[in-house]
Parts: sequence; structure tokens; C-alpha cells
Amino acid sequence: MWNTPIQQIESNIFVKRDDLIPYSFGGNKARKGFLFFEEIDRGNYDCVITYGSSHSNHCRVISNMAAARGMECILIGPEEVSDLTYNSRFMELFGAKIITVPVEQVHDTIENTLEQLKKDGKNPYFIPGGGHGNIGTEAYVQCYEEIREYEMKNNVHFDYIFFASGTGTTHSGLVCGQIKNGDEREIIGISIARKNPRGRNVVIESIREYMPEAPENVIQEKTIFLDDYTGDGYGKESTEISDTIKDSMVKYGIPLDSTYTAKAFFGMKKHIEKEQIKDKNILFIHTGGTPLFFDDAEKMI
Ligand SMILES: *Cc1c(COP(=O)(O)O)cnc(C)c1O
Repeated sequence: MWNTPIQQIESNIFVKRDDLIPYSFGGNKARKGFLFFEEIDRGNYDCVITYGSSHSNHCRVISNMAAARGMECILIGPEEVSDLTYNSRFMELFGAKIITVPVEQVHDTIENTLEQLKKDGKNPYFIPGGGHGNIGTEAYVQCYEEIREYEMKNNVHFDYIFFASGTGTTHSGLVCGQIKNGDEREIIGISIARKNPRGRNVVIESIREYMPEAPENVIQEKTIFLDDYTGDGYGKESTEISDTIKDSMVKYGIPLDSTYTAKAFFGMKKHIEKEQIKDKNILFIHTGGTPLFFDDAEKMI
């Protein structure tokens, strides 16, 4: 249990600070990464391999955890998004081997690299991009339990939970936690890139994989994936988003980034307005990405 702080920033808005998980600038990739490495540490792996762009929080965290163990780390990324960022600087600092290929070759490159490693007598562990899979989902079932614990201790009930939804297991973990406990509330993932129906379907597949016993109608009802606030797609900016970043830093002292958390925070505000949500307690999960905030700050300030 991390029990990251939950702070009240407005009369009805609270923020759970997963960005403050005390490892490598925190975030949901740290929460997931710890669980992946629990499994890696139990096996006799000598190498970890994963996928992500030069902006990837996941690749930064995984390469940090590997470096701490003196373990080889191979990162495969798309050439199209391979510019220098704070995350990519850290991947280099951690000594990760970075292979960039055109995006359509990523899948085969992963397969071929794994095969070659095994031929060389290595025992690699593969982590899906973004920390996808049941382990990633489990990380956010645990986060959901922390939220429930906070509610009981502080005698509050969050009617809504908002967060940035990307590869889907932050979302699936929270919904699985809700289904397990039978709680009444709306858990709303704000898509940062994918559109419906695909984006929502990926979340649903992760829920089914983790909780095969969950009734289909319940899964359908509880999975709310809003794709109205993706902007131009992954990592693209707009003035609305840069204003959101500046406002949050000025008003709350909380850094947001243009790829994930600012989009989600902006989308949450818009949704509250549009649906005229009043007198409800709202929890925003800050999923991290602090190095991305500094990339944004360089352009904004
Ligand atoms: C990866 C990421 C997300 C999205 O999480 P998923 O589990 O991939 O949906 C949200 N916020 C930040 C800061 C991230 O790095």
C-alpha cells in the first residue's frame, strides 16, 4: 500500500497524488513497475525488455528499476517519436539499450530481439507497453482499495473518480476494484489518445482478463471512457491545455503535463460543466508524468 496523499483543492474536488509515489518521479508507471519487478525478482531473469516512445514514463521507470538491480534493459521505441525529452535523458542515464524502428516494425522487432536474447542464453522478461496486463490492472485495484480506505477514515464518499486513460490498465484496475466492492459511483477515464469504441474495448478486455467472473452487463455499465478531450492525439498541445498546466501550477502548486494529466484535468472540468455536476465529491487521480511537465515548461515559460 502506498497510500499516496489525497488533498482537497476545491470545495468539491480532491486529488490523489500518485505522482508522489516515492520512486523515480512516481506516477502510475511506478505503481505498476513495482508489481512487475516483484515478479521479476522472484524469477531468474537477467534482462528486461519493454516498449515505449522517448516520452514514455513507463520506459523511464522500468529502466530505473532495472539499473538499480544491475539488470540489462532493452527499450524498443517508434522512430516517429524519438526526440530528446527528460524521460529519454533518464533512460540513457540508466544505461538502457534503446532500439528505435519505424512504428510498424515495433512488433516484429520485439519478437526478434526476444528470440535473439534467448539464443544468446539469456532469460529476458517482457513487460508490455505501459505496463499492460493483469499485473498493471492489479496495481490499480490496489489504488482503488486505498481510495476506499481514505473514504472510510475520513467519512467522505467520492461520487466521481476521473483520471487519464491511455493503454487502459489504470482504468481497468479501478473498475475491477469497484465491481469487487459493489460501490456506487462513476469512474470516468478521460482518453488521452484512443477513440471509441476501440479505446473503451481495450479497457473492457483488461477487465475481463482480470475478472472473468464479472457479469458482462456490469462491466458494460461501469466502463465509462470519454474520448472528447484527446486534442490532436498523443502528446499534441493546445492553448487550453497549456492554460490548464499554468493554472494548476499557479493555483495549487501541482504540475500537470500536456500528454496525460492536463488533458484529463481539462476534460474533467469540461465534463463537470457540461453535465452540471453539483454538490458531488470528485476525485482526480494524478497519474504522474512530472518529467513531461518540465518538457512542457521549457516551451511555455
Ligand atoms: C501511462 C500514463 C497514463 C495512462 O495510464 P494507462 O494505464 O496506460 O491507461 C496516465 N498518466 C500518466 C502520467 C501516464 O504516464
